Amino acid sequence: MRVRLGVLLLVGAMALGACGTEGEDPADGRTKVVAAFYPLFEAAQRVGGAHVQVTNVTPAGGEPHDIELSSRQLDRIEDAAVVLYFGHGFQPGLEKVAARAKGTKVDLLSEAGTLLGAPPGDQELDVDPHVWLDPTLFKGMVTKVATALSRVDPANQGAYEANAAAYGRELDDLDSAYRQGLAQCDRKVIVTSHAAFGYLARRYGLGQEAVAGLQPDAEPTPQRLAELASQVRAQGTRTIFYETLVSPKVAQTLAREAGVSTAALDPLEGLSDDALNAGATYISVMRENLATLRSALGCR
Ligand SMILES: [Zn+2]
Repeated sequence: MRVRLGVLLLVGAMALGACGTEGEDPADGRTKVVAAFYPLFEAAQRVGGAHVQVTNVTPAGGEPHDIELSSRQLDRIEDAAVVLYFGHGFQPGLEKVAARAKGTKVDLLSEAGTLLGAPPGDQELDVDPHVWLDPTLFKGMVTKVATALSRVDPANQGAYEANAAAYGRELDDLDSAYRQGLAQCDRKVIVTSHAAFGYLARRYGLGQEAVAGLQPDAEPTPQRLAELASQVRAQGTRTIFYETLVSPKVAQTLAREAGVSTAALDPLEGLSDDALNAGATYISVMRENLATLRSALGCR
């Protein structure tokens, strides 16, 4: 935990530009890994442990969709031994830099399994990138991280495989909790802020209606809002979900219009400094999400 916190503080300092030691390398013989955004960062930390130095290029509390990269981050990506990122235009700027990086590059989205297409009308993305919200797909990504680290640093292959297996068991437990927790519910449709929960919905037999599309910053038209409000009333939805990293305004407007309540459902695209300092992890946030879903959907 102390090591992890140290790395997080270091990443935070770099994000603020407070670290004036350009060119100095704090990796100390550890394998340098760049992760495109939070879930990939956590996967690399858990699998790599003390053998890796992981940089998350999406700052804590930032939105990973279409981030802007600093020149320092560009250097880090180009020099990293392993670059973990998502293709398919999820972070186009990062994807372009990753293509010319010297190290091993792993497009964890393209290798994640059967991908969902973009909803009709979504013009910026050809597939739904939010695979990490399905614990089973995320576990597959963790295994691929172990394979990549083992290839680059074969001396520590045993540790990478053991760490991935241990983390994989925690993800299996999470999957069981979701299966059991969502098996018997009064309602099956979730209304979310942006369409981040498609893979989670597919895995656990839920339906998803999103206010925005696959990109969180897309503004819905008044017609779309009115259509959603009448849908919400017709299907007896009780809760509109908003996110912590984007404004809850539209979700609140919809909830008011439909006469229902709101609750936070975290798509884990990034965790704030406060959440990280409080010890939040992929698994802890996913468990909070499960509790929120169970209460909103009337599960027994
Ligand atoms: Zn998203």
